[in-house]
Amino acid sequence: MELGIKGKKALVCASSKGLGFGCAEALAEAGVELVMNARGAEALEAAAADLRARFGVAIETVVADVATPEGQAAVLRAAEGADILVTNAGGPPPGLWSDWDREDFIKALDANMLAPIALMKALLPGMMDKGWGRVVNITSQSVKAPIAVLGLSNSARAGLTGYVAGTARQVAGSGVTINNLLPGIHATDRAVSLDTGVATQQGISLEEAKANRCATIPAGRYGTAQEFGATCAFLCSQHAGFIVGQNILLDGGAVNATL
Ligand code: NAD
Repeated sequence: MELGIKGKKALVCASSKGLGFGCAEALAEAGVELVMNARGAEALEAAAADLRARFGVAIETVVADVATPEGQAAVLRAAEGADILVTNAGGPPPGLWSDWDREDFIKALDANMLAPIALMKALLPGMMDKGWGRVVNITSQSVKAPIAVLGLSNSARAGLTGYVAGTARQVAGSGVTINNLLPGIHATDRAVSLDTGVATQQGISLEEAKANRCATIPAGRYGTAQEFGATCAFLCSQHAGFIVGQNILLDGGAVNATL
């Protein structure tokens, strides 16, 4: 399907690896010019070089921590005039409800709630002036179904979801859509780190931890960054202009709910 976004410009945060890279890859395939970001230069430059070589699109890279005001300023300088924004950052660490203090919550809020809000506030006006824009926030399945050990993630992402629910409806009349993509488990470094934590805690191997998790997913496997990216690119396409303020779950059926 022709997505109709060739020549648009996108900022894709936290995109050297994992789900962010999957989104950058699918947008590059659709002919979108990219600003890619990550904290580490080496993986970021390698990812950008790979996409330039395969899809021939212009890509600027910004090494920065998007959870900080300085990092946000740096990516926004490169992303001036962006038509598409994909927000993303690493997820907070797991733990027990009684472990977390104020500083832990502030870190989680900075990365997974306040950073996407700051980027939207900066880029939405330009999109609204042009009468066209797309925002996709990478959140988590934990918005629909809490993951107890990820209480910091449950909390911060719920805050972002509430902000998007109202804001998406305020900007939709200007041709700008905001939606959230909610990943269930996907085969990325994050999944390896979560499974390693489970394996250590339960005294089992990493393979066993992964097999146990697969057994809870109707699809019987982990999602891929490519599948995730394709959904993101569709939400950013010309075809998705009537999808507003939605929370779209990509979880292989793991959340057992009718709606
Ligand atoms: P990942 O850890 O595999 O990928 C991390 C990428 O983000 C890397 O490119 C890294 O450099 C970059 N990054 C991390 N923090 C950053 C920051 N502060 N500033 C700039 N770049 C940063 O993660 P992933 O699996 O791709 O997950 C992406 C998001 O989706 C995370 O918030 C994660 O918690 C969430 N999520 C993932 C899964 C999953 O199964 N993979 C499930 C639910 C939610």
